[in-house]
Amino acid sequence: MVRVRLAPSPTGTLHIGTARTAVFNWLFARNQDGSFLLRIEDTDKERSKPEFTQNILEGLQWLGIDWDGDPVIQSEQTERHRSAIQSLLDKGLAYRCYASEEELDSMRTQQKAANQAPRYDNRHRDLTPEKEAAYQAEGRDAVIRFRIDEHREIRWSDLVRGPMLWRGADLGGDMVVARRAPADQIGDPLYNLVVVVDDAAMAISHVIRGEDHIANTAKQLLLYEALSLPVPAFAHAPLILNPEGRKLSKRDGVTSINDFRAMGYTPEALANYMTLLGWSVPEGMNEIFTLEAAAKVFDFDRVNKAGAKFDWDKLNWLNAQVLHSWEPAKLQNALTPLWADQGWTIPDTTGWTLSLVELLGPSLTLLNDGVDQAKPFFMEPGLEDDALKQLDQEGAKPCLQALLNALEEAPWSGESIDQAQEILKSAAKTAGVKKGILMKSLRAALLGRLQGPDLLTTWSLLAQIGQDLPRLRRCL
Ligand code: GLU
Repeated sequence: MVRVRLAPSPTGTLHIGTARTAVFNWLFARNQDGSFLLRIEDTDKERSKPEFTQNILEGLQWLGIDWDGDPVIQSEQTERHRSAIQSLLDKGLAYRCYASEEELDSMRTQQKAANQAPRYDNRHRDLTPEKEAAYQAEGRDAVIRFRIDEHREIRWSDLVRGPMLWRGADLGGDMVVARRAPADQIGDPLYNLVVVVDDAAMAISHVIRGEDHIANTAKQLLLYEALSLPVPAFAHAPLILNPEGRKLSKRDGVTSINDFRAMGYTPEALANYMTLLGWSVPEGMNEIFTLEAAAKVFDFDRVNKAGAKFDWDKLNWLNAQVLHSWEPAKLQNALTPLWADQGWTIPDTTGWTLSLVELLGPSLTLLNDGVDQAKPFFMEPGLEDDALKQLDQEGAKPCLQALLNALEEAPWSGESIDQAQEILKSAAKTAGVKKGILMKSLRAALLGRLQGPDLLTTWSLLAQIGQDLPRLRRCL
């Protein structure tokens, strides 16, 4: 039975890297008819916040990633963690280290000066009972360290990266599994220990996470062995890189799912794109897919070893494809709340909003483009330079005046486009200018600039809400 988990730390909002890990876990679980569980790793009491947990859960839901059962809360498992540490102490596989922070600092300084990699030198690994008693008598607190045999070779077969080999000597010395505490207590248990205990308690079969955890996996394998726990399979997904090829970080600007959402990316496009960040579609499969479709064919053979560069153009392209595929009614449902957020009153004319959505839909890349582009339909825009220039062209104002005169006599309701064509033709004739000049000038008057969607539909929408004549008048 496949059981996988996402183990986010609620120390910040849902990050794109965590979300991508969630996607891979979800795809594998659904592919295997297994379970996808959540564990909230909230043991860092200072940095963990309930609002971040909330944000992570909401972000996953928004992306369409559902999970099985209630999330496991790591801080509620402390007894289990402590008893695992106690068993390591009992078996002599862990010990108390009384080295003070100052002693450790000076050790690191010496290592640095000697050009050595920083590591704990295992100085308290085999303290005599007398020495230990002496440190305790001094009132020193202690961390608990797990012994790491330098000569050990740690091997596993990674589902993404193939055969892996780590040496005990490269793990930084005996590993701290519990924070500093008085010597008769067990301090707060630390990451590698708690993850192993929790994954085993949750009967996790496959640990799927980012490549930045590879060294942790080596350490955790030693802990599984020491605690006689069943070992899961491991899959390390490639990191997400910025366009310069470095690990994507906060410095790259947008990294939180919140931000993508606020910019107007759809959950469908983002989930699709995150899947493609490190996974390539099987031959013959379209690159635009739903998570359900990807789950049917997902496997680790198609997960790349190399880091995945974040490509905004590709994400934008996918988002546009998704938006263009939406039914107008769906797009309308997505856009109306954004318009309402702007404080715009949405006309209750039958079909007006749907026509606006149909007009703008094909040119949207981001959902929020539907705010910028809809703005001149809700508020009279100012006249931009190109519009002013157009209105200064010879014949521009006379033909707009002719159009206005005609409309004041017989207003156009905005219904028949054929009728609008006729009105334009005759106004151009009256003013003695080419119809092209009138069209361009009309666009300048209605939208305040020369770029924009189909002119006659634009005019029709503005005519329906009585906004065409005032915009013509202001130019004359
Ligand atoms: N809390 C860890 C993180 O967010 C979990 C890593 C793991 O999956 O074991 O990086």
